[in-house]
Amino acid sequence: MSREHARPRRELGQNFLVDPGTRLRIVEAAGIDPGDTVLEIGPGRGALTRGLAERAGTLHLVELDRALAAGLEEEFADNSHVHVLQADILEVDLTSLVADPSALKVVGNIPYNVTTPILFHLLEPPRPAEILLMVQKEVAERIVSEPGSRSYGALSVGVQAVASVERVLQVSPGAFRPRPNVDSTVIRIRPHVPPPLSPEQEGALRRLTRSLFQWRRKQLRRILRDHPELQCSPAELEALLAAAGARPTDRPETVGPEGFRAMAELLAP
Ligand code: SAM
Repeated sequence: MSREHARPRRELGQNFLVDPGTRLRIVEAAGIDPGDTVLEIGPGRGALTRGLAERAGTLHLVELDRALAAGLEEEFADNSHVHVLQADILEVDLTSLVADPSALKVVGNIPYNVTTPILFHLLEPPRPAEILLMVQKEVAERIVSEPGSRSYGALSVGVQAVASVERVLQVSPGAFRPRPNVDSTVIRIRPHVPPPLSPEQEGALRRLTRSLFQWRRKQLRRILRDHPELQCSPAELEALLAAAGARPTDRPETVGPEGFRAMAELLAP
């Protein structure tokens, strides 16, 4: 059976992009120059791949589905700058693909059920230069959300503390086959260069976001003092609040990414 006719595998989040206008807008938004090395995650039946292959100097494709990866191998057999790897992106170390991941541009219309793990995998240092991802609209909202809003949380801080983020394009279910049950948004993530936090500070940031947003309805004073992962002394508590520019009675969602970064720097100097 050809890959166009194989039944889409729901467990792999296979909603293929069929709208030509949306395909082109995403490829153009990736802003690829002939000197660029690009990684496409989950190329599937090649909806974005053809446009990316025309523009990139080198294109790496990582596709988990064996039949789809074999189809891409066949289609791009004569394009020596296109490399197909049949693998789970979560198990691929970017440094095994390219010598310098910090110059890499990543593009992906990825399965919605693994968006967050894929995103955090890509944000492990050394980070790519730029990441353009199609995600569920609600997840995009959480990623770009600002302090004080209901969707602001651990995901917003985890990404915005180390990168700038922006919405690029809204995509409706009709652009895909089969149609997903949700709207989609393409987002662009540009990791800060140089990375603003050391690896130890990033560990502290993860601990802080996890603990604070786990108890997001409580006041900062109470969480920093009582959460089992934090248990700060009165002096630590005062220093952390000063670093974050927050009052003891504030709630976690009022602290911006820079406030979280300042607290992480204090916890792991
Ligand atoms: N890029 C294609 C498009 O726009 O039509 C396909 C998009 S589809 C939403 C997601 C693709 O990711 C599928 O081809 C699926 O097989 C692949 N995939 C799912 N999980 C993956 C993983 N962990 N690693 C790499 N590819 C994966």
